[in-house]
Amino acid sequence: MTSAPAQPHAIRLEGVSKEFGTARALSGVTLSAAPGTFLVLLGPSGCGKSTLLRVIAGLEGATAGTVRLSGRDVAGLPPAARGISMVFQSYALFPHLSVAENIVFGLRARGTPRAERAARLARAAAMLGLEALLARRPSQLSGGQQQRVALARAIVAEAPICLMDEPLSNLDAKLRAEMRREIRALQQRLGLTMVYVTHDQAEAMSMADQVVLMREGCVEQDASPAEIYARPASTFVAGFIGTPPMSLLRLVPGEGGAAVAGTPGHVVAPPGTAGALLGIRPEEVVPTDGAGLPVTVTAAEFLGAETVLACAVGTAGEVLQARIPGHHALAAGTPLRLRLPPCRHLFDAATGRRIPQAVRQPAHA
Ligand code: ATP
Repeated sequence: MTSAPAQPHAIRLEGVSKEFGTARALSGVTLSAAPGTFLVLLGPSGCGKSTLLRVIAGLEGATAGTVRLSGRDVAGLPPAARGISMVFQSYALFPHLSVAENIVFGLRARGTPRAERAARLARAAAMLGLEALLARRPSQLSGGQQQRVALARAIVAEAPICLMDEPLSNLDAKLRAEMRREIRALQQRLGLTMVYVTHDQAEAMSMADQVVLMREGCVEQDASPAEIYARPASTFVAGFIGTPPMSLLRLVPGEGGAAVAGTPGHVVAPPGTAGALLGIRPEEVVPTDGAGLPVTVTAAEFLGAETVLACAVGTAGEVLQARIPGHHALAAGTPLRLRLPPCRHLFDAATGRRIPQAVRQPAHA
């Protein structure tokens, strides 16, 4: 009996580097995505997300490394021969062409027969609710409608891989949320492999199957949204994911364990962890009447369903954030007691890397 050959990765990058003159934009990026994956490239401005997307697209050549798309090394292949479609931040619609002409522009350029063009146009327009707008010019459309035309133009290509670079950044918050759901649904319905660039962690967490968080041209963590939230690989990841992100408290020796400087009686982590950084998710912190960790409120931000508190802890300037359900009008300077979750996240203070197997022991605070 012969076993079925392994399905090739839709995308496989190995050791991809890119230099612009002496500036290094990408350093040895290795990652892969299975067919049908929604992969988000996430990271702060300048970390190399767009450059990586452009290397995958063939708009930039890599200085080193290989790019395989659907199992094929695409070195030297132009974008049109790579089996990809693209959507950019600026929709780049042609102002003098109608919506319909914009959508089929690429097909026309590739010589797709008229009947086939019409059929694909009808399918894409129906999928994105553009049937009534096909005769309009881009200037007669809202921002959201223009975005839909850009999406239609990408999906009409019927390429297995779709690349998107911050496609929603020109839209207001409400429309952005709607379009997120629409793009995700479209990607799933068509079985596309998506590479989607954003610097918005909430967008990444809500859309992705796989998040690749980048930092200074390198992959900092490559994992599912659930994994990246539950086990951030470094303080950089911990500080990037979550609203607000994890608080990081420097640990010192306390009475029978590790504590925050100035509160030695409130042990928050097991013995032997002094010197490390303790990560605490704001939603896991609970105000308590009892013997909780003493803190002082420095700011309270009411968000509707909840209040985010910033609190000063101990004597070394440590800041602990808490996300408390409901409205709490607490003035700066208010003393509080907080119950912390068990010690789940420890990081090496020197390297910032996660310390594996963080000892699970309830904190006393
Ligand atoms: P943003 O979210 O701001 O778009 P990014 O993560 O997409 O940022 P890139 O645009 O990929 O980042 O840029 C990565 C690095 O490469 C930056 O330091 C940038 O200045 C540099 N860079 C990008 N394109 C060029 C270029 N054509 N020439 C020189 N340097 C470039």
